[in-house]
Amino acid sequence: MSKIKDEVQEAMILRQPEFIGNMPGPDKMVFQLQQMMFVKRLPFKKTIVFDMDETLIRAQTKDLGDNCSIQINVDNQSLYVATRPHLKEVIENLSKHFELILFTAGSQKYANVIINVLLFQNIIKEDTFALTLTRNECFEVPEKKVYIKDLAKLLSNRSLEDIVIVDNKVQSYTLHLENGIPISDFKGDQSDCMLKELESFLMTYVLNCDDVRTVIRERFHNSVKLQRAEPGTGCE
Ligand SMILES: [Mg+2]
Repeated sequence: MSKIKDEVQEAMILRQPEFIGNMPGPDKMVFQLQQMMFVKRLPFKKTIVFDMDETLIRAQTKDLGDNCSIQINVDNQSLYVATRPHLKEVIENLSKHFELILFTAGSQKYANVIINVLLFQNIIKEDTFALTLTRNECFEVPEKKVYIKDLAKLLSNRSLEDIVIVDNKVQSYTLHLENGIPISDFKGDQSDCMLKELESFLMTYVLNCDDVRTVIRERFHNSVKLQRAEPGTGCE
């Protein structure tokens, strides 16, 4: 069985009542308030929700040993941050056609530091991401040490047929598996081409489709993560 199938099955376990039952009580007012705060203001039909760590960047305590990483300090911990190759051009291109949202399971403080790094490096602009959601907006399953990103919070004036989430952890979007585009972990490899592959997939198949879930189901659920057939051949 392929790895992605294993991960999807593992993620589905989290949808069972013993885990879903642990979700915070149905505070309808808070939920509706969040939906109002996260309303879509851009005219684009489709929305891309990006995970941060190991999808767009890599942050680790050990020096990545290249010229591309930058050192930061969060909560007295020193971290080295590297951005995934092609991040700037891919994000810039996609932002002309899609609403982009950043959704990290990290803390607000950590997210702010990383965003400042990306701004400082001129990789993103102040308005590149329409929204930044953090751990506060995730549903935590302590037994599994997993933070689940609940896309329902984005549905005030968006539809699930128009939202994709790109995340290296399938479990992160267990509540919306049909909206998830799995991507391989970025660990600092500066020859990585995944964002170029992703851009091509999004522009070709997702941008003008009727329902992203149909496209994702056909492409990924019986397949493997977004990755090159022949690694190491360079980006086209
Ligand atoms: Mg991640």
